[in-house]
Amino acid sequence: MATDSTVIRRARVLKRDAVTEEQDVLIVDGRIAAPGTDIPAEAAVIDAAGGVLLPGLIDAHVHLDGPDALAQLAQWGVTTVLDMGERAPQDLRASTGTALPAVLGAGLPATAPGGMHTHKMGFPTTSEIVSPDDAARFVRDRIEGGSDFIKIIVEDPKVPGTKALPPAILAALVREGHAAGKIVIAHVVTAAALDLADDAGVDVITHTPLDAQPSPERMAHLAERQVVLVPTLTMMGEAATSITSKLMFRVLMAVRIAPRLDYTHAQQLVRTFHDRGLTVLAGTDANTEPLVPARPVFGSSLHDELALLVAAGLSPAEALWAATGATATVFGLEDRGVVEVGHRADLVLVGADPTRDIAATRDIRGVWIGGERVR
Ligand SMILES: [Zn+2]
Repeated sequence: MATDSTVIRRARVLKRDAVTEEQDVLIVDGRIAAPGTDIPAEAAVIDAAGGVLLPGLIDAHVHLDGPDALAQLAQWGVTTVLDMGERAPQDLRASTGTALPAVLGAGLPATAPGGMHTHKMGFPTTSEIVSPDDAARFVRDRIEGGSDFIKIIVEDPKVPGTKALPPAILAALVREGHAAGKIVIAHVVTAAALDLADDAGVDVITHTPLDAQPSPERMAHLAERQVVLVPTLTMMGEAATSITSKLMFRVLMAVRIAPRLDYTHAQQLVRTFHDRGLTVLAGTDANTEPLVPARPVFGSSLHDELALLVAAGLSPAEALWAATGATATVFGLEDRGVVEVGHRADLVLVGADPTRDIAATRDIRGVWIGGERVR
């Protein structure tokens, strides 16, 4: 049924900066067809009644736990996800036919020996990188396992109890990842970790420091290298609240052993990236891990993230671009992210114009993945 044809009548279409007049959008063989294309008589006809058709949303930071998560994402209009680290290959790609969101993934993340991911969160010790030479082994394993990009947990060695990969290993991981033609993404939650990640040459920072802003020199370096930010504001807000509510952590903060965590640092960094014209992408860190500070819900959290990006200074249209075309561009997904002829028919129909009020993305009237209606 995936090759069914569909005509969506009287739809306004979201472009990067604005919404068009009402028009008909044709879907043939899972792709958006040119106006005037012959449509079979049995094609489904949908009346959008002036609703707005968006490109399918892309969540640039999730941790999938199985096919149910994908089905839930689809119901919220999320048609592609980037998995930023999973314990074991779940072969979700095999199950991602046209009716479920597409998955790109990092596979195992690179971590320090004895780090939290392998010691507490159940990741295998093959995630641990013991030397610069071992970085080549790790990246080779990821490529053989089908990873689409490389993820590194970049920790701050000054935080008590934290195991951190040293600069030489971080640099080796980036070098090997780039040699394999992959984007390298760093998990970063303090300003010192951001410095380490940038010095190592990573392409994408995910999360944000919660303890301080980068120095002006650091910000200039990030801008010069056109580093991309996936701030996961949904996660950072919940994590800052959850961590700082623990008495022991408050004591450690008070005596300056632990960094002072504050969500406003996350918002400020987004504003700085945005003001400099750097790329910010929408990602939520949706997960069901018992040991992480917060568990954003698959699907609905991306709509939370859009609102948080707007609160941090993006216009609604810019926030929507951060969850569609910008992510497709950064990750080379040339067949999606915009509603254009020839692109995948990954579409979300909403009742009102989200460039006026971003909350309109929650008013979902229909979702198509590869031309197949899933809601
Ligand atoms: Zn994550």
